Amino acid sequence: TDPETATEAMMPQEQDGSLRPRRMDEMVGQRDVIERLKIAIDAAQGRGEPLGHILFDGPPGLGKTTFATVIPTEMGSHVHMANGAGLKAPKDLLPYLTNLAEGDVLFIDEIHRVPKAVEEYLYTAMEDYRIDIVLGDGVSARTLNYELRPFTLIGATTRAGMLSAPLRDRFQIREHLGWYTEAELCEIVRRNSIKLKVPIDDPAANVIAGRSRRTPRLANNRLLWVRDYVQAKADGTVNAKTATAALDMIGIDPLGLDKQDRGYLDTLIRIFVGGPTGLEAIAHTMNVSSDTLEDEVEPFLLRSELIVRTRRGRIATVKAYNHMKLPPPEASA
Ligand code: ATP
Repeated sequence: TDPETATEAMMPQEQDGSLRPRRMDEMVGQRDVIERLKIAIDAAQGRGEPLGHILFDGPPGLGKTTFATVIPTEMGSHVHMANGAGLKAPKDLLPYLTNLAEGDVLFIDEIHRVPKAVEEYLYTAMEDYRIDIVLGDGVSARTLNYELRPFTLIGATTRAGMLSAPLRDRFQIREHLGWYTEAELCEIVRRNSIKLKVPIDDPAANVIAGRSRRTPRLANNRLLWVRDYVQAKADGTVNAKTATAALDMIGIDPLGLDKQDRGYLDTLIRIFVGGPTGLEAIAHTMNVSSDTLEDEVEPFLLRSELIVRTRRGRIATVKAYNHMKLPPPEASA
């Protein structure tokens, strides 16, 4: 396979959540967040009250959904999963809210996508455990009042900035999930290789961790691909050489960038002569949505100092030119 045409989409994904930690103690990293959550859980249980509403923000794949599933496990309650994009009208909230047992968790992923009209119903649900919904209109309109059982709302977003202040303020606990260290990713790779029963040595775990963009989801997906590769091409054992060959084959480079990440840098450097240029222009040229670029591509490029964001647009840094093996301009960023 030509690494430039290979895509991440070819890689096996963790489908069934079998690698997802079941308990908070099985989670790697995020120690500060875990410590604060444990205190909040203990305090709420001590008072016999539901845990305060929690908002998680951060780039995709860093553990927002994982937290939303381990927290109810710690509390002996259940989680109900919803997605902000699916809650188009207030009535869409009803099946979720009315099914909650006392102390349960309602998880709303991509909560920034909840429309304003639905958001307002969340306010009373969160504050007073009550929801008053008007069904129909004109003379046939009727109001339904529901008393809800005390519950905890956990919201997750990649865009904390897009949340309205009234919604954001109704979360008692707000946690930002940051990138993992390479050592933490290594630990995740090692633990999951045991779960998957693939023998893997430390140098190979380092290769996979080093090419996973500080993101547990990517570490897991890359591990699954390496496992498939060694079963087909080698004797089934993973070492640094086979792990590197497997990741090279699907176009994941030593920084962990995939084809889309390099396509972004290539577009910015060659088409827009390094910038500054707007996100929309890059998205149009690459024929992908600007949301995808902003959520999935840019955070790691920014963190790696391959691009910078300025008021006038995105700019490629000298490091980006070097990484793409293109000559940097004379007086560049
Ligand atoms: P998205 O916003 O894209 O849904 P997310 O932030 O909700 O992403 P998760 O689905 O929680 O990310 O995490 C992706 C995978 O990474 C999980 O299935 C889990 O296997 C693994 N993972 C996440 N966080 C941790 C952690 N702290 N320790 C071990 N594994 C983790």
